[in-house]
Amino acid sequence: MSTETFKFQAESRELLDLMVHSIYSNKEIFLRELISNASDALDKLRIEALQFPDFLKDSGEPGIVLEADPKARTLTISDNGIGMSREEIVENIGTIAKSGTKEFLSKMKDLKKSESAELIGQFGVGFYSVFMIANQVTIVTRRAGQKSATKWVSDGKGEFTVSDAEKSAPGTEVTLLLKPADEENGISDYTDFNVVSGIVKRYSDFISYPITMMEEKEKKTLNSMKPIWAKSETEVKPEEYHEFYKHISHDWNEPLKVIPLKAEGTIEFQSLLFIPSRAPFDFYYQGYKSGLELYVRRVMIVDSFEDLLPHYLRFVKGVVESSDLPLNISREILQQDRVTLQMKKRLTKKVLDSLQEMLEKDRENYLKFWGEFGNAVKEGLTVDLENREKIQELLLFHTTADAEKLSSLKEYVARMKPEQKEIYYFSGENRETMMNSPLLEIYKNKGYEVILLTEAVDEIVAGSVFDYDGKKMKSIEKGDVELEKTKDEKKAEKEVKEQEKEFTDLNKFLETELDEYIKSVRLTSRLVSAPACVISEEGGMSPHLERFLKRTNVKIPENKRILELNPNHNIVQQLKKKFEADKADPLISEYAELLLGYAYLGAGAEPPDVIRFNNLLLRVMDESLK
Ligand code: ADP
Ligand code: MG
Repeated sequence: MSTETFKFQAESRELLDLMVHSIYSNKEIFLRELISNASDALDKLRIEALQFPDFLKDSGEPGIVLEADPKARTLTISDNGIGMSREEIVENIGTIAKSGTKEFLSKMKDLKKSESAELIGQFGVGFYSVFMIANQVTIVTRRAGQKSATKWVSDGKGEFTVSDAEKSAPGTEVTLLLKPADEENGISDYTDFNVVSGIVKRYSDFISYPITMMEEKEKKTLNSMKPIWAKSETEVKPEEYHEFYKHISHDWNEPLKVIPLKAEGTIEFQSLLFIPSRAPFDFYYQGYKSGLELYVRRVMIVDSFEDLLPHYLRFVKGVVESSDLPLNISREILQQDRVTLQMKKRLTKKVLDSLQEMLEKDRENYLKFWGEFGNAVKEGLTVDLENREKIQELLLFHTTADAEKLSSLKEYVARMKPEQKEIYYFSGENRETMMNSPLLEIYKNKGYEVILLTEAVDEIVAGSVFDYDGKKMKSIEKGDVELEKTKDEKKAEKEVKEQEKEFTDLNKFLETELDEYIKSVRLTSRLVSAPACVISEEGGMSPHLERFLKRTNVKIPENKRILELNPNHNIVQQLKKKFEADKADPLISEYAELLLGYAYLGAGAEPPDVIRFNNLLLRVMDESLK
């Protein structure tokens, strides 16, 4: 096939542009990225060779070779890994297939340079970093299992060309035509042995394949190749852990937490896990790649094995090495394997315990973690029953005690009044509106704290925490109020009971009038200064959750609410008077609808018929101004 010219996909062009215009000051990391890709390619070859052993025959000893030519100002990075076919190279280097890329890029445009540097690092477009230091890049690559090779050339400005080439063995050769050294702008002489070997030592020492380069006439291996997870913790510097994290995660930012674990006893394995400091931009999208690297006796057998941790901990990155598994084992068998299951159990506990420790000892970082991954952790409550108690400890909520600060259930319980029996929660869209809701009044008066839930999933979370420390989670907008009562409150309740009779007719009338929207009307002692509220039956949905589900087009069962009236409120009393004077007065049903709308708004939801509510409001205002 002849030479073809392609344009980089629009998104790739934007990223290239961001990268080249030097948002990233640390330019030497291009080498880390190329070595990381070469190492990935060698891993892939080994994994595919489990199925196609022939692949290894043409390849020779796996390794990465660096070759500098100071005269020509080139640096070449070669590997004898999996290589790429013509289609693959066009696809892999020319486009970005991750979902959410467009949204991500449009977000980046509004950011300052320093902030976008952090974001681009999360994006994992390592290869493009070469254009920070090279004017032209040539890739010659041959896919394992194929005879033909492909040459790819680009100056990173918008186009690349692809043509046929010759290559004696599978693998990839990346040749950089270097920009002149320019220390002021962070570009060193990358043809100098000492410069290059220094960079390799700093960023790529742990790479498990030899990285070699000629010094004078002698071939030198630049990395120690020691598997970092097998070393004892005291032997490893934090920077080394961090570089290793960057290699396996494709994230350029430092991890939030490093979790080494060497399991001994009935099951033995070594592992090194990391909690990222930011959620990858595609974390909540379908295509997000989760999973850990699984090694068996130093050999990687799966590069992103998802069954070593439950799905709700999918943000964890890392490596696990076992010597109790056979080398030649398929993913499907692995998933069912007893050793895998036991490792998963241990790893899950370890991650949950480490998070707990972070919550207790390093609140600042835990808050960062919670902001990035809290919603994933919450998923665990409904699926991981075995660890439910541990997960409950990790939850953080806003509460009425301080709407800005987050509290754990443990902290909430420690602040509970001695007579308080239940943990109260309230869900709505907006904390400020919720803080002013009439439903909160009696709790405020009693000095009871109420958890404020604003995320749609939170209500499901609250529903799955059955009890914490022997205390039930109770929605303040569902079922009956069952507060410990003072003498006065008992009196008030008794009064309400007595008034119930007097209100029977009015309530019946309103029930018929509002039949379309509500289930029943009753009196309540729940309210203080508000005339009315709507509540759900125990086990029902709050208006907030219902609205959320409707928006996402989820079919939900009809869920009529109960309208509660405060018999001590002037408006309610006047309404009753009017009703007793003239049952046929059309104003009564209009007032009733207004009260219902008011009650919905108080619960942080829209009135059932917004247009009608608005019109009625005007009518009544008009009336009263006459
Ligand atoms: P990432 O490594 O995060 O996938 P990169 O931008 O570094 O992103 O690389 C893009 C893709 O190009 C890789 O996923 C891989 O498919 C392909 N690639 C890059 N370098 C090599 C290589 N040396 N051998 C084989 N494939 C490679
Ligand atoms: Mg890469």
